[in-house]
Amino acid sequence: MRFKKAHFGETTASCRTALERIVESGPKSPGNHEALIRSLEATAPNAPAARAAVDAAIMDWVGRCSNVPLFRFWGIDPANMPPTSMTIAIDAPDRVRERAKEAGNFLVLKLKLGSKWDHAMVSAIRDVTDTLIRGDANEGYLDRETALREIEWLAERNVELVEQPLAADRIDDMIWLKERSPLPLIADEAFMQVRDLPRVAGGYDGINIKLVKCGGTLAAREAIAAARATGLKVMLGCTIESSLGIAAAAHLAPLADYVDLDGNLLIANDPFDGHPVVDGRIALRDAPGLGIP
Ligand SMILES: [Mg+2]
Repeated sequence: MRFKKAHFGETTASCRTALERIVESGPKSPGNHEALIRSLEATAPNAPAARAAVDAAIMDWVGRCSNVPLFRFWGIDPANMPPTSMTIAIDAPDRVRERAKEAGNFLVLKLKLGSKWDHAMVSAIRDVTDTLIRGDANEGYLDRETALREIEWLAERNVELVEQPLAADRIDDMIWLKERSPLPLIADEAFMQVRDLPRVAGGYDGINIKLVKCGGTLAAREAIAAARATGLKVMLGCTIESSLGIAAAAHLAPLADYVDLDGNLLIANDPFDGHPVVDGRIALRDAPGLGIP
C-alpha cells in the first residue's frame, strides 16, 4: 500500500521517520511490555499510527513468548465477539445495490452518508436486504437541523446508529442533537485518543476507537475502560489497513459494542493471511500472539 496523502495528520514518510526513531531507541526484550509501549510516546509523540504498529509487534512478541493468543493473554472471551460490518462507500444506487448483495454474509452494513445520494442509497439497499445498517456521515451534514431530519428518516429504516454527523469541533451542536436524536451518535473524527473523552462525552453516545488514532492496543484498552466508566458505548474501528493491523484490533473486539473491522477486506494487495470472517463475525485463530502466520 502506498499513501502519500496525510491521514489524521500522518503520512507514509512521517510514519517511517517515527519507526526509524523507535527502532534506534530500540526495545531489546519484551520484558515490561507496558512500560516499553508507554515509552514510545516520548520517542514518537505525533505518530500514533507508527506507535500502533510497534505496540502490535511488541504484543505479538509477548503473546508468542507466553504461547497464548493475545485475547487470552488479556482475559478476553472470543465468544463475546460482536458482528463486524462491511462498508459500502458513496456510489450510484445501482452500485450500492450490488455491493449490498455481495455483502450477503455480513450481519451489518456500514453506509457512508452525507451526500445527495443518501436516500437513494438506503432505498437501494432496502430493495435487496433488511440487514441492519450503520450510517457514517464523516462530518457530512451541514447543520444540526439537517442532521436531525436525516437521522429521523434513517431511524425508520432499520439503521442502528450514526457516526460523526457534524464537524468534529461542533460539540455544542452535538449536545443539541444528542438530546433529540432517535439513534445513538458515535464520535469518530471528534475522538482521537483518551484525552478527548471529557470533551466529547456530552455530545455523543459512544466513541469509535481506532488503533492508528490512539496509538495501539494499550491505549485502546485504556480508552475502552474510560468509555465504560463514562457510560459511553464503544465501537472498534479501523482505517484501510492490512489484516495484520486488523488482527491487533480484532483481539480487543469482544470488548466492544460495535465492531467495524473490514479495512483489510477493501484492499486487493493484503500481504497477510488475516483472521477469517465466519457468519459475519471475526473468528480469532487460537494461535500465539496476533495469530497471523
Ligand atoms: Mg467514521
